[in-house]
Amino acid sequence: MKNLLFILFLLIMENTAFAQFSQEPLPYAFDALEPSIDKATMEIHYGRHHKAYVDNLNKAVAGTAQEKMSIQDLQKSVTAQTPAAIRNNGGGVWNHTFFFNGMAPNAGGEPKGALGEAIKATWGSFDHFKDEFKKASLGRFGSGWVWLSVLDGKLVIQSTPNQDNPLMPVADIKGIPILSLDVWEHAYYLKYQNKRADYTDAYWNVVNWDRANNLYVKILK
Ligand code: MN
Repeated sequence: MKNLLFILFLLIMENTAFAQFSQEPLPYAFDALEPSIDKATMEIHYGRHHKAYVDNLNKAVAGTAQEKMSIQDLQKSVTAQTPAAIRNNGGGVWNHTFFFNGMAPNAGGEPKGALGEAIKATWGSFDHFKDEFKKASLGRFGSGWVWLSVLDGKLVIQSTPNQDNPLMPVADIKGIPILSLDVWEHAYYLKYQNKRADYTDAYWNVVNWDRANNLYVKILK
């Protein structure tokens, strides 16, 4: 029995040593964003897709310089020379944590505070901003992301392919994200099938504007 416990201890320690990056807990229940984002999609998206990015990133970084970085610093280290497994899985980990944390139950509505003012000043109205965001969502061919970011003190809507994000030096766009939408089919196909436009519309019911505003205010400081 003692030997068994010791072997178990060694196994746990070994796994801990490899698990440099861990999956942040989802800040709400799987069904909390119903009906806009359905329970089954959240279960698979978080429990399988996001988890796979974490597991595969841990395998990819073993023995590399990125192994000891924070997940945020890892994004800023991604250049054209970075192995695809680190770029794609590292992006997958950070992007999904950012996306999941950017939604909340009993959220949505219109943005308030400094961000609400800045959106109106930049796009004329919240509706026009949503139109432009939707264009970026529908304009992304294949898999990728839409971002609301701050670039040189101004708000911009951007899009990246695959698991790239604006923090990566290798990305064609630069900026500090305050909001994101996952437009990979795995993010919406179970409920919305091919209707990415409907999924994008539903996203506004669950956006955590308070968080986005807090990020915005911090960036501008
Ligand atoms: Mn995803």
